[in-house]
Order: sequence, then structure tokens, then C-alpha cells
Amino acid sequence: MTLITPQPGILEIAPYVGGQSKIAGMTDVIKLSSNENPFGPSERAKAAFARTAHSLHRYPSTDHADLRAAIGEVHGVDPARVICGVGSDEIITFLCQAYAGPGDEVIHTEHGFSMYRISALAAGATPVEVPERDRVVDVDAILAACTDRTRLVFIANPANPTGTMIPAEDAARLAGGLPPQAILVLDGAYAEFVEGFDGGTALVEARRNVVMTRTFSKIYGLGGLRIGWGYGPAEVIGVLDRIRGPFNLSTTQLETAEAALRDTDYTDRCRAENARMRSWLVEALNGAGVPTDESFANFVLARFADQAEAEACDAFLKSQGLIVRQVAGYKLPNCLRITVGDEPACRRVAHAVARFREGAR
Ligand code: PMP
Repeated sequence: MTLITPQPGILEIAPYVGGQSKIAGMTDVIKLSSNENPFGPSERAKAAFARTAHSLHRYPSTDHADLRAAIGEVHGVDPARVICGVGSDEIITFLCQAYAGPGDEVIHTEHGFSMYRISALAAGATPVEVPERDRVVDVDAILAACTDRTRLVFIANPANPTGTMIPAEDAARLAGGLPPQAILVLDGAYAEFVEGFDGGTALVEARRNVVMTRTFSKIYGLGGLRIGWGYGPAEVIGVLDRIRGPFNLSTTQLETAEAALRDTDYTDRCRAENARMRSWLVEALNGAGVPTDESFANFVLARFADQAEAEACDAFLKSQGLIVRQVAGYKLPNCLRITVGDEPACRRVAHAVARFREGAR
């Protein structure tokens, strides 16, 4: 028996499995499994990316002042209370490292994003799973699950993989009902897809126990570059900043993200096109006898009779060169999560699901 063992909790972590991007033996493949922007980043972001080639020998900014200032301008937040990280995943990790240790509880919901549990376990804390109500975060159930050991409560709004949302009043009620030692983390990875939604900014401003996380991986089309940010009370951001590596983001990440953020016309076009194709896809799936919940994000959760039908549909879609996401790991075994692609991709996946429902296997 080896004496070299990891910290308690680590072996309970099921490693994160990302969406696959290839199908063996096929070239005409469409990936609709990772909620990526089908149009990629804006031209201005790509130009900024290329421009950073000349400064690769220089260390990057340590304080991210330019990107934080741009976030402040575009999102109407105080740049002094913004922290940037390697994807919003890193902000989630910082929160768990800083606020949750052995004996502490970290609440996530039944179908919540898997990184909350992974980061809690990695920090030595105890994840506590709270049921949802018909695939929607249940504020009363979360409040009932809080104890004097609860340190963090994670919810995504809109949520992944369900696409559902809770109203701002419910998020405020949740923040207001938490025990005094707990922080509510509002994960706004998909916030930009919701017209007019502030992602939780107003709640951060109104309270001392709310942190919002955001990402450049979704509407900004920069999942491959890994950039995210968090916004919260000065004390909390100051704490997170102490455990952030000094050079956690490269110049390429920082400057590309800033250009992407400032190209608001492009973001607006992506939001509008996502909404248009999401409605189209929902209607097509429902028309093929596959129900969906109302989605506020850039994906749709398609519900099948049972796990066997969901798996069979997934296999049929793969045979047609279409990669979608099975979400059994999120306790949704009878569902497939389908990213809203561009129009040809949406037509192709809807057509394939309809053929599957008509009996093609
Ligand atoms: N939160 C949610 C709800 C997500 O779906 C994702 C990505 N799948 C993330 C956070 C992490 O995104 P990133 O690290 O790319 O910013």
C-alpha cells in the first residue's frame, strides 16, 4: 500500500469530460456539444490576437488593468472589483480555495454545472446537492439546505445544461436568506444571450454576499483561449486576488478578450441570431415530438422517453456526423443537450432528429 495519497475528497472527483469534437472516420462533422458560438470570435478579436505575436517575449500585465477597465465600461461595473481568470472555471476554483475547506459545505443544485462539485472537493470541502423543481433551480430548497457550515452556494443563471433561469427577485431572495457566513455565486456564463439581462450585477451592487462570474468562452466565441472574470464586493475580490497567480493570463488572452468585448455590434448580432435559431430549433424539435424546456441560453435540452431513446438518438446523430451532448452525468439521463448552431447546422440536426423519430436507427 502506498503512503503517497492525495488530500481527502480528491479521489471522489469524477474527472470532467468535455464535449468530443471528432467522429472516427468522418470528416463532415458538426459539433453541437460544448455551447460554443458557431460564428467564432469577431474579426476585431482575431486581429488583436494576431497583433500580440510581436510581444510574446514579454511577460503579460499582472493586474489586467486594461481588460478590467474595458469590462467596467462595457458592463457598467467598477473595474476595481473585477478579477480575471483562466476561464470562469478559475474564478470558481479561487472561490472554493479561498472560502471552503474541510468541514465546510458548498451547495450546488441537482443538475448544476459539474465544476462546482469538482472545485469544492478539490478544496477539501463537502459538496451538498440540492434538488431542482422540474429542471429549475429551487430557491426554497436551497435555503432549507443551508447550515452553519454553508460557505458557498453556486447557481448558474441561465443554467447549464437545462437552459432555465430564475427571476432576479428569486436570486435576491436567495441572497437575502443565506446564513451570514455564506456567499452566493451567480454564474453568468450564458448571461449575454439574454436580452437586457445584467447577469446579476445589480444584486452584486446591492449586497455584500454575492459574486458574479462571467466568461469569454460563450457569446464571445473564445472558448479556446480560456478567459473569464468575476465581480463582487471589494473584500471578496481582494481575497481572490491574493491567491491568483501573478501571470495567470497571457497578453494574447488579455488583448483578444478586450477587443472581443469592445465589439458590441458583433455581440448584439450573435445574440439576435442565437435567439432566432433557438426558436427555430425548439419548434422543429417539438414538431418532431421531442419536448424542450424554455431555454434562455445557446443550447436546448431535448427530452426523450427514457435513457435508451436518448442514447439511441445520440448514436443516430453521430452516424449522421452530428455531435451533441448526453447529460446523464447531470442526472438528466433521458435528455440530449444540443448547442444552437448556425442555420445549416440547426437544419441538419433537426432533420436528423425527425428522421430518428420516424424510425431511422
Ligand atoms: N459555468 C457554466 C454554467 C458553464 O457552462 C461553463 C462552461 N461549460 C463554465 C462556467 C466554464 O466556462 P469557462 O471556464 O470556459 O469560462
